[in-house]
Amino acid sequence: MNLDEYCGVWVFLEVSGDRIAPVSLELLGAGRQMADKRGVPLAGLLIGEGVEELAQSVFPYGADEVYLYDDAIFRNYRTESYMRAVIECVELHKPEIILYGATSTGKDLASAVATDLQTGLTADTTMLDVNAETGLLEASRPAFGGNIMATILCKKHRPQMATVRPKVMKALPPDPSRTGRVIREKISLREEDIRTKVLEIVRETKEKVRLDEADVIVAGGKGLGSKEGFELIRRFADKIGATVGASRDAVEAGWIDHHHQVGQTGVTVTPKIYFAIGISGAIQHIVGMQNAGLIIAINKDPDAPIFQSSHYGIVGDAFEIVPMLMEAFQTM
Ligand code: FAD
Repeated sequence: MNLDEYCGVWVFLEVSGDRIAPVSLELLGAGRQMADKRGVPLAGLLIGEGVEELAQSVFPYGADEVYLYDDAIFRNYRTESYMRAVIECVELHKPEIILYGATSTGKDLASAVATDLQTGLTADTTMLDVNAETGLLEASRPAFGGNIMATILCKKHRPQMATVRPKVMKALPPDPSRTGRVIREKISLREEDIRTKVLEIVRETKEKVRLDEADVIVAGGKGLGSKEGFELIRRFADKIGATVGASRDAVEAGWIDHHHQVGQTGVTVTPKIYFAIGISGAIQHIVGMQNAGLIIAINKDPDAPIFQSSHYGIVGDAFEIVPMLMEAFQTM
């Protein structure tokens, strides 16, 4: 692979409803800095149906150009059709770096593209930089349970890719005088080429959670092991009239809606009582619940950091301890 053929920073522009997702605008802010440092253009890659106007909307946020795939085949996000567009565009224009939001779409698309192009992908990045001389992307992310920051390099393959968490980069203040160039691309892709069909879109009906107003919260983490395991948290909360909270890892596993997430990128809570069950106690979780009146942690690891922030700690298996607590509450 001739690395010198690759040039430019790209941001995958995710469409959310009728606008560009905020995370994509944040990535344009980060991408702008890297493109300037490297002296290369910053481009957006926009795929969808009827999205031409959205292409224009990103120039004030720093993009120099937008590669646009506007076609009925892209009406709904499907891994296959979108990855074909990204791959074709990469093969045509050879970007050095591509950034995606670490959303469900961004993560799905980036991993499919990385696999197909046999290139590296750093997932869930929280810090980005580029070496001005070599063009090497320095993508950093927490590792080993958040105890260290790992900087991951992709030395031998291009494009270098990263998914970046929402809200960690900053969008530039929009400058309406900034304009750019829309480069319209065509792809020869037929509906018959795509193996997945969208039959129906069911909108989520949100149950209203007011975690910030709750007196008692029962929060569960990755230690519950599965969606079925997390049901234990709901049952316990139901029994004692508490509101259900969760760590981000439980939310990301799809066990519970993100409205229940407590912590730095979730809700900050101040209940009278907070149960932290199967939650390790990463700093990003602690900052969201440390002002609770009484913190009770249940964890099978006696060295789990959560015990340092708890008033009471129970070392043991949640699946044994919680049923015992429920029984005790029953008799009260
Ligand atoms: P883990 O760290 O995997 O811990 C699981 C725990 O369960 C372990 O301690 C284990 O000993 C215990 N366990 C396992 N089995 C059992 C069992 N049967 N019974 C009892 N205990 C058991 N996290 C948040 O929560 N909220 C945020 O808002 C948030 N924002 C973040 C923002 C940024 C920028 C970053 C980088 C990270 C953020 N995180 C956030 C993630 C955070 O760093 C941790 O990764 C996350 O909190 C870990 O979730 P967890 O404790 O559920 O999982």
